[in-house]
Amino acid sequence: MRYVKQSFEEISIDDFYCKIALVAHNCYQVNKDKNQKIFVNRLLGFKHYAMIEHKVFVAKIDSNTYRQLIDLYNRFIVLATNNDDFYCAFSLRPLLEAYESNNLGILADLINILPSDVQEIFADFHMGKTTSRLLSAEEIDRLPRTVYDKVKYVTIKLITDRGVSHELVRHRIASYAQESTRYCNYAKDKFSNELTLIEPLDYQENKAVYDCVFGQIEQKYIELVNRNVAPEMARALLPNKLKTSIIITANVQEYKNIFALRCDQRAHPDIRDIMIPLRDYFVAKNYLVKA
Ligand SMILES: Cc1cc2nc3c(=O)[nH]c(=O)nc-3n(C[C@H](O)[C@H](O)[C@H](O)COP(=O)(O)OP(=O)(O)OC[C@H]3O[C@@H](n4cnc5c(N)ncnc54)[C@H](O)[C@@H]3O)c2cc1C
Repeated sequence: MRYVKQSFEEISIDDFYCKIALVAHNCYQVNKDKNQKIFVNRLLGFKHYAMIEHKVFVAKIDSNTYRQLIDLYNRFIVLATNNDDFYCAFSLRPLLEAYESNNLGILADLINILPSDVQEIFADFHMGKTTSRLLSAEEIDRLPRTVYDKVKYVTIKLITDRGVSHELVRHRIASYAQESTRYCNYAKDKFSNELTLIEPLDYQENKAVYDCVFGQIEQKYIELVNRNVAPEMARALLPNKLKTSIIITANVQEYKNIFALRCDQRAHPDIRDIMIPLRDYFVAKNYLVKA
């Protein structure tokens, strides 16, 4: 059994296949496949579409497309406007779901502007003309704040515990990929045959109690798995303090809401312990303007 502290890192991979492979691998805590494209196509074959939400494309669109997207009323296609400029942010998910139900309509316009290796996913799609275009990361950074907050998506990998992650996933306007206690077998060599826990904030004062209880849990978890109980059943024993790796992708607007609620005095000390430094990071990167 070992203790680690909470931490976070930004995942700023631009390539669709590389990013989605990395995010999906977080669920199973496996190393990257050699061929990320094959791996991602396999995920799509299983309809594990939640993973593809983590790559968000941002487009400048014309007023006509904008109006048609408003009429479509898909809350997962985020629209923004500034004077006579119109923008939208979207993942592949709504496009793929509409494509599969032969109901693309105006969403065809967005397929037209995807990178060519991503367009391959829409095998029978016939390309058309469009005035829409994808924005580069630099162009997104130069957008006015009212637009930026809606279309700027940030992906963060958090090392935290299951108690904090349970609070985090209550924030609904976001996408998540979390280490699975069903598929990860902590009795295996890959996990050094031990449980990893987030060090409780009061660990020094209550060390004896924590070490005793977590030590027993670890011993009994390994005992069950060694008796051929599946990890997905043995996980019933695992504590809230179990370390987990969770990836969140959300726009700045949603992060603002998360920070307002989770950095506040009333929030749990554990989630404040990670959210306050994360908010500072957002300010340092200029994703957020300091209040
Ligand atoms: C101090 C604290 C104590 C808490 N205690 C409890 C508790 O005891 N029990 C419990 O169950 N939960 C508890 N929660 C969790 C809380 O109920 C929310 O689930 C969580 O904070 C997510 O916040 P949210 O709903 O504002 O935002 P998000 O889900 O992040 O949504 C972001 C924004 O989208 C909009 N939105 C999203 N979905 C909808 C919708 N369906 N309808 C209308 N608008 C929507 C709202 O404008 C919202 O502000 C607690 C949270 C905090 C911070």
